[in-house]
Amino acid sequence: MNPDRQIAFGYSTTCNIKCDHCVAHDDATQNVKMDFQTAESIVAKMAGSNVTGISFTAGEPLLFFNDICKLIRICKDNRIYSRVVTNGFWAKNPEHSDHTVSELKLNGLSQLRISYSRWHQENVSQENILNAALSCQRQDLNYFISFITDFSKEDDRFEQFLRKNNLKFFPEPLIYFGRAETFTRPDICSDYQPNTCAMNPYLSPELDMFACCDAGMHFTNTGFFHMGNLETDSIDALFEKKEKNVLYNFIRNMGLTAIASFIGIKASKIVEYRKCELCEKLFNSPENLALLEKSAESLALWTR
Ligand code: SF4
Ligand code: SF4
Repeated sequence: MNPDRQIAFGYSTTCNIKCDHCVAHDDATQNVKMDFQTAESIVAKMAGSNVTGISFTAGEPLLFFNDICKLIRICKDNRIYSRVVTNGFWAKNPEHSDHTVSELKLNGLSQLRISYSRWHQENVSQENILNAALSCQRQDLNYFISFITDFSKEDDRFEQFLRKNNLKFFPEPLIYFGRAETFTRPDICSDYQPNTCAMNPYLSPELDMFACCDAGMHFTNTGFFHMGNLETDSIDALFEKKEKNVLYNFIRNMGLTAIASFIGIKASKIVEYRKCELCEKLFNSPENLALLEKSAESLALWTR
């Protein structure tokens, strides 16, 4: 039996707002959309490949509300857990918000993930986030708010808004790729941690599959996370590639810190990196990647 499989599904990269920190977009990114019939057929085939969770993401999925509802329905019919990641633009007032949430729920959505940050909220009112969350609470739809932060004092009042309203939220570190690439990095206040990564794969509207749904899509020097394209490879073949790749498994289980130490990066240097930047140092450098591929067997023995 195949292991459980989850994927971030990029139906379209189009977004109605332009957040300064967006990891999915930089100014070179084109807006692309998957053909709807193709999307339908892929979601149905994923069920046969033991995919148990699909997160509709990329740009703003709910710009294509009717299509996404139909795709959620296919997930439900095939017992696939479905999630939509949204910026909440549609929750302008409680009535509109209730209507949208009830349609999503009726079609079988399992969870709504609402994005929130000081960058998102330059374009979408905080009240929208509150409306969306309260609609989920009223209609018993599982939700959470993904609070993207650089952990600076500037974000305290954004966190306070969530606390004041008793909303369910999880802080998530800003990723300094895409539009955030040029941001100033505040100092990191953390210790020497393993830096493991769950590595959810991502399917793009062009049907390219990546082993990472965040910064790893930007590793264009080596293309380390690009696994193939559904035009030429089957869903099973691409998932198997991900599951069998020894270096991906090291990232998941051993963690980037041990891998960095193995190739000779000093401990005092390792703690200066954020997780995705350390990942880039290791896997978006042709020299480091070649070294790691050559030493994979020795690296497997690099355990305590
Ligand atoms: S972060 Fe999300 S909401 Fe903001 S521009 Fe990017 S895709 Fe759109
Ligand atoms: S640590 Fe690597 S695999 Fe994980 S999200 Fe960052 S770039 Fe992707």
